[in-house]
Amino acid sequence: QAKSSAPGHCSYFSHELNQAVMARQKLERALQEAIETNQLNLVYQPQVNIDDGSLYGVEALARWQHPELGFVSPGEFIPLAEESGLIGRLTQWALTTACQQMAQWRANQVAVPVVSINLSPDNFHSRDLCQTILAELSAFNLQPSDILLELTEGVLLDTNPNTMKTLHEIHSHGIGFSLDDFGTGYSSLSYLRQLPIKELKLDKSFVKDLELSKTDQALSHAVIQIGQSLNLKVVAEGVENQAQLAVLREQGYPIAQGYLFARPLAPAELEAWLERSPVNAG
Ligand code: C2E
Ligand code: MG
Ligand code: MG
Ligand code: MG
Repeated sequence: QAKSSAPGHCSYFSHELNQAVMARQKLERALQEAIETNQLNLVYQPQVNIDDGSLYGVEALARWQHPELGFVSPGEFIPLAEESGLIGRLTQWALTTACQQMAQWRANQVAVPVVSINLSPDNFHSRDLCQTILAELSAFNLQPSDILLELTEGVLLDTNPNTMKTLHEIHSHGIGFSLDDFGTGYSSLSYLRQLPIKELKLDKSFVKDLELSKTDQALSHAVIQIGQSLNLKVVAEGVENQAQLAVLREQGYPIAQGYLFARPLAPAELEAWLERSPVNAG
């Protein structure tokens, strides 16, 4: 009796679905425009050497402030970019912007040792990713060691034949990789043998309750052991308080990143943060 196929009696559900599809298409068009018109920007979060508080490097993180929609989080627009085929252009934009910023810091003698840039698995499908990166480095007169590329375990689960080839090609030019969100993927540890990585990032989900949870402490300990045995730098992300930092220091973590030190900062804010930093002030 609830059947209504007559025109004008379109079901509640299909109406809802239609709304959702339209909203998504609208956001997709807005994102494309944002990339093309430079509406996105990068903020930079310090990564600190736990030993002495000096700057190890910064991670570049994308931000989107839309004139009408307001702030859209990367947790929303990065997956959208990946699903809608915009991620190639977004990454190209991020590479250019981060390299340009790094060159400017170099020119102004702002001591930022290295900038980490996040890549998506799909970026490795493109045959010219390596050329794109080399072109940016040369355009801004940077060395391969001035940047680090963050990838996630998703890259390893990818069966696209181009992925491993591209990864090794980039590595052969002296550009380093960092394995982001380590411990949250579904791949086995054996891939660590095949991957040309120089850094692991302990995922922030393990750090969140680190000072309280013996289980998380055991896991973070296991990760630093793996990192040390394989001669990798290990960064703990999401460090928010001194108690977490104390555990990490005790376990031998060399590098930490998180709100305890600084939020992701606009370039001018990062410069001010560096000037206030005890290492530089002292
Ligand atoms: P991610 O690469 O793992 O970046 C770390 C995230 O943790 C960032 O979230 C950062 O703002 C946040 N964070 C930093 N310190 C703390 C802390 O102490 N506590 C907590 N709770 N969070 C902290 P954000 O900026 O929202 O980015 C989310 C994700 O979006 C990133 O995770 C990354 O996967 C992706 N993303 C951001 N920018 C880009 C980009 O330019 N390209 C690509 N492909 N992905 C990006
Ligand atoms: Mg990252
Ligand atoms: Mg991460
Ligand atoms: Mg992530």
